Amino acid sequence: MITSKYLSRKQMKGLIHTGDALLPGSGQLPSFSQTGCWRHIDRQAAFLSPDDLAGLQMALGAFRFLPKAVVRGLINLASKFHDAPGPLGMGFRMLEIGIKGAVMSLYYSDLHAEDYRGPTVFEGIGWDAHVELVDDGLAPEQKPVNLVDPTPEDIAAMYELARKAQPEIAALNIAKRVEYIANLRGIIIQRRQEIVEAIMADSNKSQTDIITSDVFGALDHLAYLEKNAAKFLGDKKVPTPMALMGKKSRIYFEPLGTVLMISPWNYPFYQAVVPISTSFLCGNASIYKPSMATPLKGLVESLLAEAGFDPGWVHIVYGSGSKVGDALFEPRPDKVFFIGSTATGKRIMHICAEKLIPCELEMGGKDPMIVFEDCDLHRAAAGALWGAMTTTGQSCTSVERLFVHESIYDQFKSILVREAESLRQGIDHEGDLDIGPMCTTEQVQVIARQVAQAQKLGAVFLTGGGWDGQDPAIPPMIVEGVTPDMELYEEESFGPVLPIFPFADEAEAIDLANQGPYGLSASVWSHDLKRADRVARAIVTGNVSINNVMLTEGNHNLPFGGAKQSGIGRYKGEWGFHCFSNIKSILEDKDSSKLEANWFPYDHKKYELFSMLTQNMYSDGLLSLVKGALTGMKLESYVGKVAKRRRK
Ligand code: NAD
Repeated sequence: MITSKYLSRKQMKGLIHTGDALLPGSGQLPSFSQTGCWRHIDRQAAFLSPDDLAGLQMALGAFRFLPKAVVRGLINLASKFHDAPGPLGMGFRMLEIGIKGAVMSLYYSDLHAEDYRGPTVFEGIGWDAHVELVDDGLAPEQKPVNLVDPTPEDIAAMYELARKAQPEIAALNIAKRVEYIANLRGIIIQRRQEIVEAIMADSNKSQTDIITSDVFGALDHLAYLEKNAAKFLGDKKVPTPMALMGKKSRIYFEPLGTVLMISPWNYPFYQAVVPISTSFLCGNASIYKPSMATPLKGLVESLLAEAGFDPGWVHIVYGSGSKVGDALFEPRPDKVFFIGSTATGKRIMHICAEKLIPCELEMGGKDPMIVFEDCDLHRAAAGALWGAMTTTGQSCTSVERLFVHESIYDQFKSILVREAESLRQGIDHEGDLDIGPMCTTEQVQVIARQVAQAQKLGAVFLTGGGWDGQDPAIPPMIVEGVTPDMELYEEESFGPVLPIFPFADEAEAIDLANQGPYGLSASVWSHDLKRADRVARAIVTGNVSINNVMLTEGNHNLPFGGAKQSGIGRYKGEWGFHCFSNIKSILEDKDSSKLEANWFPYDHKKYELFSMLTQNMYSDGLLSLVKGALTGMKLESYVGKVAKRRRK
């Protein structure tokens, strides 16, 4: 079913049903539904007044349930009595002009679905209108600008288009926005292999990494949004305190306007779909900049277009951050949502501070994993290996520091080393390799520097020590003896490098985990869930998985973000969803002649009464509360008297 901006799925069904009742097809003429002309309803609906549109929507919603003979009978009746006086005549005119008019003009405009190959209406009736339709139905000012190699002018033009289109998104009700998201989900499912191949071509990741993290993760997020968006975006009533008796308080979640989103290269599809879909649901137009290393050129645009998104709603800017960066901020987006390294995040925050643009930063990590002696060693070792090596270690929440209790350290280490040596690496065409080569040369160079320095200062490479420092297929590295003077100790590696350390007790494990500038994610492994929970609370971080690894990201109910230099703000979950909304507070009072006690004029008596009220209302005990209520009444009566005196 095609998505319409103006009709719900049910109303579209009503349109097709009504169309077939009036135009069932005969001989050379196709039926209304066969032509697919109903797909073009938005060309008409866009020009209806809000009242006429509401009437059409209501009638089509109801007609869907009526037998075709009844639909025909009603329309015939309407044609006969359309000039009847009063509301009856008005109803008939609505059916005649609104419904019949919509159906007939769609059909006799010879519109059809792109893939319709049967006889056309004009062939059937032998008419050539010599009319050429604009192919995409877009007004010239809505046409997307060319952004393959965007100049600052291109980017400014794109912001202009986004700003023009944003009120259109805001005008869609939430159910309608959710329909677009559901369409997108369906199209991603259908085109998943094409998506996997596009990600592979740009990133070198293994197919299983891609399907589980990028594609499954994106679909799971869309399904979560579909289920929850209406609830999250609905107006919320909140309690009003006693001191404001008689008033009502509520919160509205409104669009911010145009949001700029910038993403890294490690999960190029997930990091595109998640912010774009959330921003859209919140009613914003989006400007999205993927990493130059993994642009997935054209893919996201084509999925969005197939899902019915207007090209004005989401604009994708390609190019390197350093080249297009300034131009992206110049038009002053209403919010910046950034995912990437801490170094770039700092630069972006600086630019946002100068322009006073609110920004949300999701940045790097050096995540600890703490393994206590009482956990299942084989499972924990498998978890450590996956957590450190999935996506070749290029995950923000990769395990980058492994702390193992000294009593199991040797045993754990030998399991881990054996497992690491068994990983299969390469370009994964068949879906049977574990990890790919690295995605970017820059990251290979970072790791080469860290590894060379660690080797020089005496770190022991239990696996991968023979790497030449250049091959992008960096082998999994398990490293012992990493010390604070090595870059590997605190600096993010963002590759398949896992330093491993023994610890003596819980306090030492917490202390080690809390070292360094990052606090993105962590994991704690122990059979004793109380201990694991105690440690999870003590680690200064944004996310902790207990007896699992990187799994908080697997639940879209959980907000995601970092502590310390790993992040500012949260996205995902209900808390994070609102990062794309203007959260507006409303306090409603009745229209009355009553003045507020704290308004002018002030005098000594009023001051005394307020002082007593302050003491009584906020002191403990029932007696204070009663005294507070009495003082409040006194104050009210005094304010009333003063007001009366003033009016005289
Ligand atoms: P990066 O910081 O180099 O680039 C991120 C994005 O910012 C890219 O699109 C880049 O083009 C853009 N950019 C760079 N300079 C810019 C500028 N001046 N103005 C505007 N945009 C600019 O990061 P990366 O190397 O692509 O990704 C790896 C980093 O991302 C790692 O540090 C990783 O931990 C982090 N990351 C964090 C999360 C998270 O959710 N916290 C998720 C994934 C990756």
